[in-house]
Amino acid sequence: MSQASEMLSERVNRIGLSPTLRISGTAKQMAAEGIDVIDLSVGEPDFPTPSNVKEAGKRAIDANFTKYTANEGTPDLRRAIIEKLQRDNGLEYKPDEILVSPGAKCSLYNLSVALFNEGEDVIIPTPCWVSYPDQVRLAKANPVFVRTREENGFRLMPEDLRASLTFNTKAIILNYPCNPTGATYSREDLESLADVAVKEGLLVIADEIYEKLVYDGFRFVSIASLSEKMKKQCVIVNGVSKAYSMTGWRVGYAAGPKEIIAAMSKVQSHNTSNPTSISQMATLEALKGSQLEIPRMAAEFQRRRNYIVNRMRSIPGVSCYEPKGAFYLFPNVSYFFDRQFQGAQIRNSYGLSYYLLKEARVAVVPGEAFEAEGYVRLSYATSMRNIEEAMNRITKALSMLEEPKKAARTVLNNTVTKVKTYVPTELVRGLDMRNALVAESEAHLKYDHYYEWNASISGVMVQLRSNSPHLADFWVENWYPAQLEADIEPHAIIYAVKDVAGREARTFYNSDSHTGFVFNTAYYGQLRSLAIGMLADFTEKTSGIHVVHAGAVDFGGGGVLVMAPPRAGKATHLAGLLSKKDARLVATDFVCLRYLDREILADAPERKLYLRTDLIEEMPHLGRLFDKSKLENVVTKRDECGHEFCPDVDSCRIDRGAGYCYAASRDSRAMLDPYWIGGTSGHAKRTSVKALVVLCRDTVSPAVTKLDPTEAARRLEQGDFSSGGGPVRSYPFLNPHLLVRDSDRLELQRYFFGRLLQTVPCYLVNTGAGSVETVQTKLAEALEKAPASIVRA
Ligand code: PMP
Repeated sequence: MSQASEMLSERVNRIGLSPTLRISGTAKQMAAEGIDVIDLSVGEPDFPTPSNVKEAGKRAIDANFTKYTANEGTPDLRRAIIEKLQRDNGLEYKPDEILVSPGAKCSLYNLSVALFNEGEDVIIPTPCWVSYPDQVRLAKANPVFVRTREENGFRLMPEDLRASLTFNTKAIILNYPCNPTGATYSREDLESLADVAVKEGLLVIADEIYEKLVYDGFRFVSIASLSEKMKKQCVIVNGVSKAYSMTGWRVGYAAGPKEIIAAMSKVQSHNTSNPTSISQMATLEALKGSQLEIPRMAAEFQRRRNYIVNRMRSIPGVSCYEPKGAFYLFPNVSYFFDRQFQGAQIRNSYGLSYYLLKEARVAVVPGEAFEAEGYVRLSYATSMRNIEEAMNRITKALSMLEEPKKAARTVLNNTVTKVKTYVPTELVRGLDMRNALVAESEAHLKYDHYYEWNASISGVMVQLRSNSPHLADFWVENWYPAQLEADIEPHAIIYAVKDVAGREARTFYNSDSHTGFVFNTAYYGQLRSLAIGMLADFTEKTSGIHVVHAGAVDFGGGGVLVMAPPRAGKATHLAGLLSKKDARLVATDFVCLRYLDREILADAPERKLYLRTDLIEEMPHLGRLFDKSKLENVVTKRDECGHEFCPDVDSCRIDRGAGYCYAASRDSRAMLDPYWIGGTSGHAKRTSVKALVVLCRDTVSPAVTKLDPTEAARRLEQGDFSSGGGPVRSYPFLNPHLLVRDSDRLELQRYFFGRLLQTVPCYLVNTGAGSVETVQTKLAEALEKAPASIVRA
């Protein structure tokens, strides 16, 4: 994960990249590779801008009309827009009620910023154009989706609008003709919606960008023209992109109450300022000059629509609404979900679009992008020839999909927990408090929901008492059992109780009695981390065992410890070391060090490794092993995916039929048997430590530096190792499991690390100093030259 990602605003993390762009991006890439792809994902007319308009643009350049204009658009253009609204829509506006912007998308964005507050609801009938929800989210308001239905011609019904109102509802975004459905509204339809809007004081944002592209003699009516009251509560958004085939010129406009227009103008003045001067001159010509191109273009779209609707409706299983405007077809393709091609199952509109792209070489947009799963959008803004060929290919590809065979899906042993991340631990002093927590815990340990099991962690007996079957299950899996006589007290006890009313998910630890408490989280990582912390607290005081947060790899008896701050690339470099000759994995996360007279032994106390499943990105062969393991929080649905930079985003495996994805979450874990990783000889329980490697990630220091013991000790204590510049939490001794950090305990840690560093060399490895391979080669060279020559290439 890049560090820069951590700097992004919470606001921008609310939104996704326009999903329409993903399939068309892949289509473009395929086309660039010479593959014959027909792109039906485009959202713009395929006609050139009319020549009178182009000439006007050229004239503007020649006349040096190339400077800033008024922020809200030139007076001439605003006057032309006023005339257009008067002529076409019967609406009267004044110049201060018009704002021209660089595209209707920008008008809508200005409007969102000018109008919406955090917590306000904005109604968006779905299927909807992709940018509405995210523009609303960027303004911190909430999109409220109201489903329209195919059987109602994808029109919003007034009763559905009424039912979706809340105290927080501020506005509705009404787009007709609609992208993606092509639905539109008659005067009567609009009157019944306007009744609700006026009565409820609802602001209507009318996106009328496809106004001119309507078919079968349909007469377009603007909702603002229905009554003076409605007009006062309405902002019209329109533009020249679609009607005059001017998408690249970037001119849109808004007309509405002057207070709202003034606020939008303020937003625009600090962002884009005026739309391009040249484009404004071209737009002036578009609105005032000959309008003959429009009916010609609309007639051609209607001809194509008639053809494509018929072809689509003739495919068995497909139902298809006949669009009344715009240039998109929105067929229902849910019939094909669960069907298969060569064993891969289509699960949703994304999967079907991907299939059509790869098999039919036709790019369409998944309905999911428009909040309408079950559909795909095809644009018929392309030549008849392309449409015919695309329909031939689509028909053939859909006919190749087979009925689902018996599911051959692996059944995962996966438990999903409500809490999925670490919660804070509080140290509890005094026995009174400890006893109160014990009493509270025991009250929740009913005989029919009680699990008790003694673990032996490096010889320390830790007893779990829990009412969570999942925690008990993972606990038993994770540790070796302790042989404990019935009447002997364990060294430490952990109560892990869930369903405790009135408590947050938290953990507590009382060091005097070695008692730990986990409340209301069944996330096993939490219990395990507490157990390791308690182990460290216990052993360091009593038996001189030093618990270190490190991975370890053994080379024929001599071992390398690898410590790292979060995100410095520990998994990658452990995997690199493991690929060397005679390497055996000892531990991935923590080891217990015993300081003997002549050597330091590192022990792996865990029976099973509790591993992040996204490790398969570093070690792909682990997937097969995870399938057989006990799992926690593995992602099985696409909308749970939290992978920020998935390399397979365009061919999501879940969309393509897989039942799960190990890489999709940072929170999912597998309980993996270490002997499975490299066979019985690939794992060692113990190694004699010969070198310590500490990872950091920066852009300046060399790949490998040998640290002197004093310097290494100082930096380890402070956790002072950069891992990319982002705000990553640092832990003393790079150990997030350390529970007690008072001066006595830190002194003990200092003492232990002092011994370690006096005995073995410490190498600082900068994982940012070059490619993974380069850094690994340099590290291997250093270890080969180390006094005990540990690694052989
Ligand atoms: N609204 C809708 C419904 C659209 O489909 C589009 C273009 N795809 C726009 C607004 C934006 O148009 P412009 O090119 O003027 O930004």
